Amino acid sequence: MPGPSGIIGCVMAERLYQRDSYLKGFDASVVTSGPDGVMLDRTAFFPSGGGVLGDEGTLDRAGESFRVVETVETLEGILHRLDRPGLAAGDLVRGEVDWTRRYLLMRYHTATHVLTGVMFKDYGVRVTGNQLTPEKARVDFAFEQFDRAVLEEGFRRSNALIGQDLAVRIGFVPAAEAKARPELFKLETTFPHDLPELRLVEIAGFDTQADGGCHVSRLAEVGRLVLTKLENKGKSNRRVYFVLE
Ligand SMILES: [Zn+2]
Repeated sequence: MPGPSGIIGCVMAERLYQRDSYLKGFDASVVTSGPDGVMLDRTAFFPSGGGVLGDEGTLDRAGESFRVVETVETLEGILHRLDRPGLAAGDLVRGEVDWTRRYLLMRYHTATHVLTGVMFKDYGVRVTGNQLTPEKARVDFAFEQFDRAVLEEGFRRSNALIGQDLAVRIGFVPAAEAKARPELFKLETTFPHDLPELRLVEIAGFDTQADGGCHVSRLAEVGRLVLTKLENKGKSNRRVYFVLE
């Protein structure tokens, strides 16, 4: 059935960002082009998902530049929304990810894994959602009995862990094997269930999560988490905002 972009079927682009989060530029060809944007045979653009914003950047065809204003995951594949039409199926393009923005998102994403890992391991507090931007992170925690001192201690422990500069490693495991390990799904709970293998993000010796997103390769790159705001969202839900320094 044609989707909202008029595209039939699914374009399984090679997700270059999943093997190398530091890949800034790549060559690809346009597979489909519609009023909403284009799909490529391979891409380093991360599509929004798991509470993390998708990438922005440019696609260049023989010196002519198109701005990628948003990258989203659709039922048909990874859609690169462009600032204007003009690209056609079969075009060869050079993609460049807006690296300043993406690198901030990577730092916030890894920081969130550290904080949620500490809160769960040390205090049994579960994360229920998150929203990451290049400016700040928002994380929802399910506190049975909220104690601000516990949260502040969690931030201190997170920063101490970052001080150890642990490595962040990417791996892949068969989906069936991953699903037998519920501890892998603390943060992202909605995974496509038809994938043959799942991607794992491991903070060496600390925490491993099933995760399709982009991360820094060492914790020192994250910087320091600073708690900026705390909100009550219902009886047992605390919304936490932090920035990175
Ligand atoms: Zn994640």
